[in-house]
Amino acid sequence: MARGLRRTYRAPDGSEIRALDDVDLDVQRGELTVIAGPSGSGKSTLLQVLAGLDRPDSGSVHIGGQDITRGGDRTLSRMRRRRLGFVFQSFNLIDSLTARENIALPMQLDGRKVDEARMQSLADSLGLGERLDHYPTQLSGGQQQRIAVVRALVSDPEVVFADEPTASLDTQSGEQMIATLLEVAHHHGHAVVAISHDPKVEQAGDKVYRMAAGQLTLVRSNEAARTDFSPAAPWAGQH
Ligand code: ADP
Ligand code: MG
Repeated sequence: MARGLRRTYRAPDGSEIRALDDVDLDVQRGELTVIAGPSGSGKSTLLQVLAGLDRPDSGSVHIGGQDITRGGDRTLSRMRRRRLGFVFQSFNLIDSLTARENIALPMQLDGRKVDEARMQSLADSLGLGERLDHYPTQLSGGQQQRIAVVRALVSDPEVVFADEPTASLDTQSGEQMIATLLEVAHHHGHAVVAISHDPKVEQAGDKVYRMAAGQLTLVRSNEAARTDFSPAAPWAGQH
């Protein structure tokens, strides 16, 4: 996916900060890839470059056969809308819209029709099948979180990015979020990339990389991951 990424910032005193120092990364469908590492190690910079929100000084990022570091801004934002999904720390749900309307909104803004059957099956698999016509305030925090995941997935993105997906959650909701990300990777077959310093997220990863001073190292890889389909979501049927 990414080859030879470098991104240098200039500090106020004029010195160079190597936020990305020759980073290579491959992500696969059906796997949860976790990028761990301390604060300041370059994780957010990497996510931004992988997602086409920032450009590297050198190196390339291929998504769906296209080098996203080459196109113009319009090509890039179009690629982002069509090929990538994002799970943010805050769910950014709009209170005056139902879950269904929230999920459909990004695609509608992009002039596309939502596949209702796909929405329903994603919602069903995350235990939200009966909740699509509820408003966010009528849903638990965990349900709101899973609505945001369905919204990220409904356009069938090639890669789903999650930036510190458990950081703003309590222990139980954090564990549900991890189970959801695994479900999305193992059962729905998406490539999921999570940036996190939460040891539980790190433990759940099929491939775990660690970032340190702008350099990325593979620390663990579970070869069996992609054939290991997860059982039914543990919260299915709970409210
Ligand atoms: P992480 O997400 O792992 O905490 P970041 O990618 O945010 O790390 O930052 C990596 C390094 O780059 C840090 O030293 C940070 O201070 C520096 N950095 C990040 N963004 C900027 C910026 N816009 N200008 C200057 N330095 C930056
Ligand atoms: Mg960060």
